Amino acid sequence: MNRRNFLACSSSCATWMAGIAAWSPAAFRSVMRPQAEDDREVLLTEKWGRIEKIQDGVWAHVSTPFETRDYTTVCNGGIIAGDKGVLAIEAFMQPKGAKWWGEKAMELTGRWPTDVVSTHFHGDHTGGHKGYFTDKHKPNFWLTNTTKEDAEKSFSGRGMKGNEFQNVQTIDAENGTEIDLGNRKVTLKPGSGHTNSDVTIELADPAVVFCGDLFFNRMFPNYGNAIPSRLNTYAKTIAATKDTIFVPGHGPVADAAAAKIYHDFLGWVENWATESITAGQTVAEATKEFKLPTQFEEWFVWSPDNAKKAWTAWDRELKLADADMKKSK
Ligand SMILES: [Zn+2]
Repeated sequence: MNRRNFLACSSSCATWMAGIAAWSPAAFRSVMRPQAEDDREVLLTEKWGRIEKIQDGVWAHVSTPFETRDYTTVCNGGIIAGDKGVLAIEAFMQPKGAKWWGEKAMELTGRWPTDVVSTHFHGDHTGGHKGYFTDKHKPNFWLTNTTKEDAEKSFSGRGMKGNEFQNVQTIDAENGTEIDLGNRKVTLKPGSGHTNSDVTIELADPAVVFCGDLFFNRMFPNYGNAIPSRLNTYAKTIAATKDTIFVPGHGPVADAAAAKIYHDFLGWVENWATESITAGQTVAEATKEFKLPTQFEEWFVWSPDNAKKAWTAWDRELKLADADMKKSK
């Protein structure tokens, strides 16, 4: 990655970069393999990821940045096509990633995306937004107000001028927003847990949910801005579903069984962190010999900071809960 691209990253991108030292491409390949029961068609494999068909008119991009050290997309994404419009999910890390996804939409559906949504403010989901805009194409760009503000703060914190979002449409942070693609309606549903403003993209019948980073499948979640108890609640909810396909923000496409394992993983992280905090340990003490238990051995720890950030997020949440208790007494 050259200097300009590096500067074009925002906060979470730096986190990804910090993870480089921890990589093991072979381990990543094993994590990213499609699930055993998976019979989805893989349409195309690029250096940075693959495209899987989810159902008629719905495709997922599964990003595989660790195998080849290619940061064109970094996060997963989606395309949902109706007879009046085409929604592209995520703006990826780099403009060339978004441009590539726009071109794929064109090939798969015959149209450039009419609408684009980013699930949260992190740079690997917003950094490439300009790639969707050309002389000919000006899609609606769907964001919550919080996501827009936090992303722009993060851009300007890095001295990135002229990187404002174009054609922004605001997602209703209370009730969500429905996008009418003609013969198909898509719900942009607000939530929180990975950040304080996350959005999932939901289709009914057959049910498909693009979870953004509320779901990391087979990879240690990024807890940098997380509200961990809410993350747990989200995982519990999706683990209890039936016949839904989940496209996580990172990691392979999943079903409820995989969501259940994710929920168990988050529960294990909660126990590990809160026991250590209650015992009065520091983050350095807690993470000194950090190791995942055998049942999650396969899970990909992509940065040496993964455990530290999880511990810190739980510490932050417990302190806030304490302060609230004191206030109410
Ligand atoms: Zn992400």
